[in-house]
Amino acid sequence: MGNILVVAEIQKGELREASYELLTQAHAVAGAGDAGRKVRSLVIGSGVADAAAEFAGKGGGDTYLADAEGLAAYNVNGWEAAILAAAEAAEADLILLSNTPSGWDVAPRIAAALDAAFVSDCFKIEADGDGLALYRRVFNGKLDAKLSVSGAGPVVATMQPGACAAYEGTSQGATHPVEVKLDGAKAVFVEVKAAESKGVDLTKADIIVSGGRGVGDPEKFTEVIQPLADALGAAMGASRPVVDAGWLPHEYQVGSSGQVVQPKLYIACGISGAIQHLVGMKTSNFIVAINKDPDAPIFEVADIGIVADLFEVVPALTKAVQEAKGG
Ligand SMILES: Cc1cc2nc3c(=O)[nH]c(=O)nc-3n(C[C@H](O)[C@H](O)[C@H](O)COP(=O)(O)OP(=O)(O)OC[C@H]3O[C@@H](n4cnc5c(N)ncnc54)[C@H](O)[C@@H]3O)c2cc1C
Repeated sequence: MGNILVVAEIQKGELREASYELLTQAHAVAGAGDAGRKVRSLVIGSGVADAAAEFAGKGGGDTYLADAEGLAAYNVNGWEAAILAAAEAAEADLILLSNTPSGWDVAPRIAAALDAAFVSDCFKIEADGDGLALYRRVFNGKLDAKLSVSGAGPVVATMQPGACAAYEGTSQGATHPVEVKLDGAKAVFVEVKAAESKGVDLTKADIIVSGGRGVGDPEKFTEVIQPLADALGAAMGASRPVVDAGWLPHEYQVGSSGQVVQPKLYIACGISGAIQHLVGMKTSNFIVAINKDPDAPIFEVADIGIVADLFEVVPALTKAVQEAKGG
């Protein structure tokens, strides 16, 4: 039985939240049964020794460090070399990456190089007897598929960001440099073109107030939905028709082609609950749905369903929250 290698990512100089979520999944597998796996990690970049030490102490365990100028920006050949070197050193038979653009790019290469089983976009992984069970959503989130991996070969999996809580434990681990040969790399990094952003990161919000087509027009988002979000200290989200109509930018979209979120509280206003929306929010801790159609599918996932006109309920809620806060 081999160990688990968690491949961390650094974004804007910080270890990503998604990397700590990988640790949650890794520790759940490592701690299950008598598998006896150890969690090992890898941090890749330039000048990232401090980040590697931080990760080693916050759940990463013994952490390999691929630190080179040529790794300052993501490039697939450098990452592939670093991950293969770390996987060998860690004696890993399970390699976990985030389901992010870097993960999508490099993970299949790692799987091909190791002749490993590859499962992408999982939301959960667990020990299953001698093997592993990996869970992913299929048919646009209508069903959850359980994939069993048996046999001795290694497994490479990418995990959906936001699918579980970030690891909050500690670990005692040292950092170990790994040599990465960068000459002969075929892919050349050119530049990062970041999308214009108003700084909305719904995956980190504790509370989200989302509006759908039922809100009616962009002004109503400003007049009705935003005030409730402000009163609750929440982020604002939206369904796809709202974004397609240009009422809000794409970064506000929740769903299969938007963000997958898991806040403590999700308030859906005038959203029908199409499967493509549900797949992005149904694992929220507590869901309140406001819809005037009693048969709206959103009520199937709601903890509290309010069958009413949102233009009556939402302002009343906003007022009640403001009053409760003494405003
Ligand atoms: C490939 C693909 C990807 C997709 N990705 C996404 C995605 O990422 N996210 C997403 O959201 N959708 C996505 N969709 C679209 C999805 O199928 C639905 O069309 C969409 O989610 C519907 O949005 P809605 O609930 O806002 O609108 P509608 O389905 O039109 O529902 C509006 C709701 O508002 C209610 N309502 C109206 N007025 C009021 C009122 N005054 N008070 C209370 N309730 C009111 C109505 O009863 C209705 O239930 C995708 C579709 C496809 C094919």
